[in-house]
Amino acid sequence: MTRAEATSPALSRRRPAATLHIDWTRCQARGACLELLPALLRADDDGYPLAAAPAGARTDVPVPPEEMPAARDAVALCPRLALTLRGDR
Ligand code: SF4
Repeated sequence: MTRAEATSPALSRRRPAATLHIDWTRCQARGACLELLPALLRADDDGYPLAAAPAGARTDVPVPPEEMPAARDAVALCPRLALTLRGDR
């Protein structure tokens, strides 16, 4: 079980509503997204966000329905426009 699943068991069972893509070429590790999405993201050793769950691409994060409001906030508030939601309906 991952840390994200341990803190939010529903994350392991819910079908993702969208995928949050992190563009590391834009990100400057300022951390707003980490504060908004603590169950989905963790910081690497340099402070850059990556998927908390180890499966899949580290920069493409499955977002369960209950995390969509916070994910949309993270996209809107990222000062570097480094976040996009793919598949958001
Ligand atoms: S909010 Fe944007 S700039 Fe800040 S750590 Fe997240 S992706 Fe990077």
